[in-house]
Amino acid sequence: MFRGTPFADKSTCMPCGVTSGMHWYAGLRLGMAAGVSMHKGSCLCGAVSFRLGAQPKAVSNCHCRMCQKQHGAAFATYASVRRTDLEYLSGEELMVAYNSSANIRRKFCGVCGSNIEWGGSEAFPDWLSIPITLLDTYFDPGNIKDINLASKVCWL
Ligand SMILES: [Zn+2]
Ligand SMILES: [Zn+2]
Repeated sequence: MFRGTPFADKSTCMPCGVTSGMHWYAGLRLGMAAGVSMHKGSCLCGAVSFRLGAQPKAVSNCHCRMCQKQHGAAFATYASVRRTDLEYLSGEELMVAYNSSANIRRKFCGVCGSNIEWGGSEAFPDWLSIPITLLDTYFDPGNIKDINLASKVCWL
C-alpha cells in the first residue's frame, strides 16, 4: 500500500501544479531526476513514520539469534541509511530503545512493537539499519546478502 505523496503537505504539486493522482507520479519523476529518495516508511500502527533522503543500501537478511527474537521471524531484512538521511515525520517520541549488546541499540515503536532502527555499530557510527519491510514505497533491493547463517533456522 502506498501512502502519502512527496508533496503531501501542499495542496498542489509545486513544480507541476497537478492535484490529481498523477501528482505523485510527477513528483517521483522529478525526485528521481534530482537524485532524491522518495521512500517513506511506517510502523504497524502508523504512529511512527519517516522518510529517507537517500536510497537504502547494503540489504541483508540477518539470521542472528537477536534478530530472530526481536522480529519474531526467521530473519530480519535490513538496509543501511545514513543517520542524516532518516527523517522522522511522526512518532519519534514514542520509540523505545533496547541495547541488545554493549553498543547496539535497537529502537522500536512503543505502541505496536515494530522494529525500526538498528544502530550503534562502532565500524559505521554514522549509519543506521532499518527493516525494509517498513517501507510503504516500492523498493527493489537487488542483491540481498544472507548473514549470520550459523543460526539459520532449519525450516527455511
Ligand atoms: Zn507503531
Ligand atoms: Zn541480526
